[in-house]
Amino acid sequence: MKLIAVPAFSDNYLWLWQQDQKAVVVDPGDAAPVLQALAREGLTLAAILVTHHHADHVGGVRELRLATGAQVFGPAREDVPAPFSPVMQGDQLALLGQTVQVLDVPGHTAGHVAYFLPDAAPSPVLFCGDTLFSGGCGRIFEGTPAQMLDSLDRLAALPGQTQVCCAHEYTLSNLRFALAVEPSNTDLQTYMAKCQQLRAQGSPTLPAQLDTELQINPFLRARHPRVRQAVAQHAGLSAHEQTDDVAVFAALREWKNNFR
Ligand code: ZN
Ligand code: FE
Repeated sequence: MKLIAVPAFSDNYLWLWQQDQKAVVVDPGDAAPVLQALAREGLTLAAILVTHHHADHVGGVRELRLATGAQVFGPAREDVPAPFSPVMQGDQLALLGQTVQVLDVPGHTAGHVAYFLPDAAPSPVLFCGDTLFSGGCGRIFEGTPAQMLDSLDRLAALPGQTQVCCAHEYTLSNLRFALAVEPSNTDLQTYMAKCQQLRAQGSPTLPAQLDTELQINPFLRARHPRVRQAVAQHAGLSAHEQTDDVAVFAALREWKNNFR
């Protein structure tokens, strides 16, 4: 299988996964760039996967479905353009020869799902929408910090070689924040330099690799003593709050929300 990041709007990627002359699209916020990519590559659309209800993820669903007849799959608990097949944690789809596992990852939105392809070659693939970004995570709009931490914990437990297909190119701004949290993290410094080079060439920084994220992403490292201490200091957490994983994670997210 081949992964194609179709740029849209100012910083979205609409992911296409291609097998032979067919493709699946994830989160088509806009139909036009997807239709162009399908035409350019000579592909027919086999299915549309949706992670959550935000307009930049579903805006092109109706037009694409009408243009291609592709079946739409989306989170059971969210308002996705009908008709769609509702999916939730534990569901498995078979698409283009791949097993697709559905994971509930609430936090950014209340019913957000992710799609995991454990048998993809050369390594597993995760489409995580706005839950996990390279160097960051989604804002908590509808869920709670406890839900978001739990969702990220479950994504972090996937195989280290997993290719993480995030829905936005937010990497450099996320890494600026990550360096404010952990200025002495040498893996982070190295990764920043690599991503700066990619962006300078006009290339996506994605997919990210999960085991790299575990080394550099503060939101996957909220229990690391260095991150915990930096957050405690920044937010003025009490000794008791510092021992509370959710309190530390919530303060880290709040810090990022206000970071410029
Ligand atoms: Zn979103
Ligand atoms: Fe988004």
